[in-house]
Amino acid sequence: MERIKMPVPLVEMDGDEMTRVLWKMIKEELLLPYIDLNTEYYDLGLEYRNETNDQVTIDSAMATKKYGVAVKCATITPNAARMEEYHLKEMWKSPNGTIRALLDGTVFRTPIIVKGIEPVVKNWKKPISIARHAYGDVYKASEMKIPGPGRCELVYTAQDGSETRELIHQFEGPGIVQGMHNLESSIESFARSCFNYALDTRQDLWFATKDTISKKYDHTFKDIFQEIYDKDYAARFEEAGITYFYTLIDDAVARVIRSEGGYIWACKNYDGDVMSDMVATAFGSLAMMTSVLVSPEGYYEYEAAHGTVQRHYYKYLKGETTSTNSVATIFAWTGALRKRGELDQVPELVRFAGLLEKATIDTIEGGRMTKDLALMTSLENPVVETSEGFIQAARQTLETLL
Ligand code: NAP
Ligand code: MG
Repeated sequence: MERIKMPVPLVEMDGDEMTRVLWKMIKEELLLPYIDLNTEYYDLGLEYRNETNDQVTIDSAMATKKYGVAVKCATITPNAARMEEYHLKEMWKSPNGTIRALLDGTVFRTPIIVKGIEPVVKNWKKPISIARHAYGDVYKASEMKIPGPGRCELVYTAQDGSETRELIHQFEGPGIVQGMHNLESSIESFARSCFNYALDTRQDLWFATKDTISKKYDHTFKDIFQEIYDKDYAARFEEAGITYFYTLIDDAVARVIRSEGGYIWACKNYDGDVMSDMVATAFGSLAMMTSVLVSPEGYYEYEAAHGTVQRHYYKYLKGETTSTNSVATIFAWTGALRKRGELDQVPELVRFAGLLEKATIDTIEGGRMTKDLALMTSLENPVVETSEGFIQAARQTLETLL
C-alpha cells in the first residue's frame, strides 16, 4: 500500500513522561507505516519549554492558527516539585492554559465507547460530549467575609463616573459575599463553538442554566445562545437534521440520566467542571476520554483528557513493564488526521482515521487491553497487554482491516 500523502501539515505538539513514550510508539507502529506524515513539530516537553522560556508553547499555538489543526500530547503543568525535578527557571504556566488563551474557544470532551466497558448508567448507548465554557463566573470571582452588621451592594461605575447600585444584602450579623462576572463576547464565542461543533459532528446540542432564578446573569447566557442560533444556525441545523434544545439545569440533569446519549451538553463553567467528571467516571475511565479545543474561528486542537501518567513513567524508567492505556492518545491523532483530511479533501486520510479507531476498539472488544480496562471489563478472561503490546495488537487488527 502506498503511504497516504498530506498536502497541509498538522501541528504536532509533543509532551511529557509516559504519554511522550506512547506518542513515539503510536507514530512508529500505527501512523508512519501508512501515512507520509506531514507535521510541523513542536516539542512541548518540559525541558524544551524551559530552554525556550516557554516560547515554544506560544509558537505552537500560532502555528495552529496558521494551519488550523493540531494534535497535542499530555504535558506537565509545573508545580514546586517539578521546579526541582527539572531545574526550571520559572514555574511555567499550564501549556493548555496558554494555548487556550491564544486560540480562545471551548473544550469538548467525549468518551470512547467499547463493548465490555459498560457505562454505569445502563441506558447510555452513545457518547455524551461535554462542552465547558472556560471563562469567568466563580473561577474569576471576588469574595469577602462579612464580619458583622452592614450593607452590601453591587456598584457599577460607568466611564462618565455615574453609578448604578443594587443591594445584595442588609447584613444583621456575619456572613459571606461573592461577586462574579462574565463577558458577552466570551459567551458569544462559547455559543458559536458549540453550534459549530454540533454541525461538525451532526449531534443535537443541549444547553441548560438556572435562568428562572438568575434572571439577569444566567438569562443572558440563554438569550445570547438563542439569538445566535436564530440568526446564524437555525437553517443549518435543520438542514443537518439536528436540534438545539434549551432547558433548566435541573431538568437537564434528569434528562441526561434517562437519555441514550448521542448529543453535546453545553455547560457553564462550574457546571462543566462538575458534570464532566461525573460523565467521564460514569462512562468508565479518563483514559478513554478524548478532548478537543474548538476555537470560534474554527481552529482545532485534539488531545487526550488524561495527564502524563507520571507513576507509570517512573516504573518505565526503572525498566519495569508498564500497561498504560494509549486509546485516548490514538484518538487524538485520528481526530486530528480526520479533520485534516476533511479540510484538505483527502478522503484516504479520513478513511484511515476511521479504520484506526475501529482497529483500536475491535482489539479491546476482542479481549486484548491494558490493565486499567482489564480490571473493569465485563468480558471474560481479558488478555492484559503491556503499553507496547497493546499498540502492536492494534496494528495487527489494523492490518486485517486495510
Ligand atoms: P494522570 O496523568 O491523568 O494520571 C492519574 C492516574 O490515572 C494514573 O496514575 C493512573 O492510575 C490513571 N491513568 C491516567 N491515564 C491513564 C492511562 N492512559 N492509562 C492507564 N492509567 C491512567 O494525572 P496526574 O498523575 O494527576 O498528573 C500527572 C501529570 O500530568 C501532572 O504533571 C499534570 O500536570 C499533568 N496533566 C496534564 C494534562 C494535559 O496535558 N492535558 C492533564 C492533566 C494532568 P494508576 O497510577 O492507578 O494506574
Ligand atoms: Mg474538575
